[in-house]
Amino acid sequence: MPKVKHIILLGPPGAGKGTFSSQIKKIIPDLIHVSTGDIFRKNIKESTSLGIKAKEYMDKGELVPDEITNSMIKNRLEELDKHYWILDGYPRNIGQTKYLSGIANIDLVLLLSVDTEIIKKRILGRFTCLNCDKIYNKYTLLPKKNINENKWICDDCGKDIEFQQRTDDTEKTLNKRLDVYKTNVEPIIDFYKDKKLLKEINAEDTLAYTNKEIKEILKF
Ligand code: ADP
Ligand code: ZN
Repeated sequence: MPKVKHIILLGPPGAGKGTFSSQIKKIIPDLIHVSTGDIFRKNIKESTSLGIKAKEYMDKGELVPDEITNSMIKNRLEELDKHYWILDGYPRNIGQTKYLSGIANIDLVLLLSVDTEIIKKRILGRFTCLNCDKIYNKYTLLPKKNINENKWICDDCGKDIEFQQRTDDTEKTLNKRLDVYKTNVEPIIDFYKDKKLLKEINAEDTLAYTNKEIKEILKF
């Protein structure tokens, strides 16, 4: 069994946190992927009051207020009591970081670093299978079988997929999200560096990491 039970993935939008989480999950299948962005998007789709509130901020590329995000994460982590989990997209500022340290133990923080130009290409081309959440990219990672120019068959689940961007994956919102990331990340990095939990990895091509390399990163 792995020594690390609770992992945080830090990194700019488009660093590939979701993709890297899937790679880690193949090695530790019991690990539960907790993405605040995914939870918000699910709530928006279901038009819950949480979703309606969050959408306003997300469409502008701003952070959803801490009171909302913190209590949502607290509820989710309580449900996951005793499970292994990986946090993707949380914490995103120092307030959330301190809040989290009061409700959970963290074993490892992975900082995914990637060049901004690469990020832009990734985000503006990214789309996901609505059925199984596999992440693709219009420019770099298309499903193998295509039906027509904008339609494919998902490699993983076999369902039809169309190129459909997230509503916040536009150039304007992306620039704002990158700014928000840059202004907030340094104190988070310092916080986890002090606690000797931070490990920086090159995320230019995480798909090239072998299972052995990922295990080393996770200190198996
Ligand atoms: P990305 O990392 O590509 O920006 P996410 O899915 O993680 O995408 O986040 C999308 C949006 O959801 C953010 O721009 C923000 O509005 C909101 N969000 C996600 N996580 C948080 C968080 N921890 N705190 C506040 N807002 C968040
Ligand atoms: Zn699929």
